[in-house]
Amino acid sequence: MAVPKSKITRSRRGQRRSHDALVAGNPAECPNCGELKRPHHVCADCGHYDEREVVAMVDEADFDDEDAA
Ligand SMILES: [Zn+2]
Repeated sequence: MAVPKSKITRSRRGQRRSHDALVAGNPAECPNCGELKRPHHVCADCGHYDEREVVAMVDEADFDDEDAA
């Protein structure tokens, strides 16, 4: 088993972790519905991209396949 040669000091551990913080995304407003969306991604709320509908949206998806077939 690999064993560390020497103790990592609190200082060095902290220096390593100084880059670990999560950064917030850069949300952009959807030009169709005004909802915040990820830039260069289809709007999750209305399915529009570049002011066109590219993904058809349904009101309520029913994934229960009991009465299917
Ligand atoms: Zn939208």
